[in-house]
Amino acid sequence: MEIKEIIEYLQNYQGPVIRLMEVCGSHTAAISKFGIRDLLSDRIELISGPGCPVCVTPSAYVDRLIELAKEPNTCVATFGDLLRVPGSSKSLSESKADGANAQMVYSPMDILKLAKDNPMTNYVFAAVGFETTAPLYALLIEEAMKQNLSNIRILTALKSMPNVIAYLLRNEAQIDGFLAPGHVCAITGADYFGKLAEEFHIPFAVSGFGDEELVVAIYGLVRMIEQKETGVKNFYPSVVESGGNAVALDKLNTYFEPCTVAWRGMGEIEGSGFCLRKEYAQFDAGSIGLKEDKKKNHACRCGEILMGKAKPTDCPLFARVCNPSNPQGACMVSYEGSCFTAFQTKA
Ligand code: SF4
Repeated sequence: MEIKEIIEYLQNYQGPVIRLMEVCGSHTAAISKFGIRDLLSDRIELISGPGCPVCVTPSAYVDRLIELAKEPNTCVATFGDLLRVPGSSKSLSESKADGANAQMVYSPMDILKLAKDNPMTNYVFAAVGFETTAPLYALLIEEAMKQNLSNIRILTALKSMPNVIAYLLRNEAQIDGFLAPGHVCAITGADYFGKLAEEFHIPFAVSGFGDEELVVAIYGLVRMIEQKETGVKNFYPSVVESGGNAVALDKLNTYFEPCTVAWRGMGEIEGSGFCLRKEYAQFDAGSIGLKEDKKKNHACRCGEILMGKAKPTDCPLFARVCNPSNPQGACMVSYEGSCFTAFQTKA
């Protein structure tokens, strides 16, 4: 079928309302950038789920980073957007005025050189991300050991996808199908979501990030729903193979193990994260036991948005008090956040 015919099908769809959730921040950003929603019938809703790594990181994690950044001879290194995520009272960036030492880097591997050049400084990397980035942190630990660098640690808030999706489905999320994250599946393989599909009788379509790739995957998902099919279909075969990336999975499993972690707005979800294995505990900057902070901004509806239970425009602060220059919640900070992308579309 030609792409033109596929778009016509999706535009003219008149069946029961279909709610599709994307669980990848890069999908959220790409859907907004390409105006994919404008190509669909208003009976096909695209909902953004908990796929933006910065957005799902609880404020207690940011608070812990700030504590670490204030310790003597310590520097917290992180990607730029995490610097601006509000903790329970301040962001890491705002805490610099109170003496917090935080530095933006472009890759976790950047701290190897920093740690080597400044042996009297302890570097803590803010390790957030999903299955896609976790192997990178494994490589960082491996390299630190090879180079005998004892002044590197990581504070992990690493997440895995399946158990949070199960959490959503058990908590009455009204979702008919999932756009499965292409980057995650490139590491784990296309079958990663097979058990969920079977348990919850729901279809998954693995999608790429180009405009046509997204349209084709959405069409595939709509057709699966119409035909009452479950299972996982791979619409990103140029990158995603059924077995995944064996080397990356080996690194991930060597250094990390599944653990219970807290998600913004959802609390702790069993087995939904990756923590360093005991053998590598010396590299952990105190990740275990971080919970969602009770002093959070109660006006912010980021948690409900991440669960597909509210839209950014449902938040009374959206575009009034909260905007990318003055973010009140994590969903407005990251360019992959639902509130940020909704704000860009509105602007
Ligand atoms: Fe939170 Fe701002 Fe989004 Fe409202 S608009 S939910 S305050 S991030």
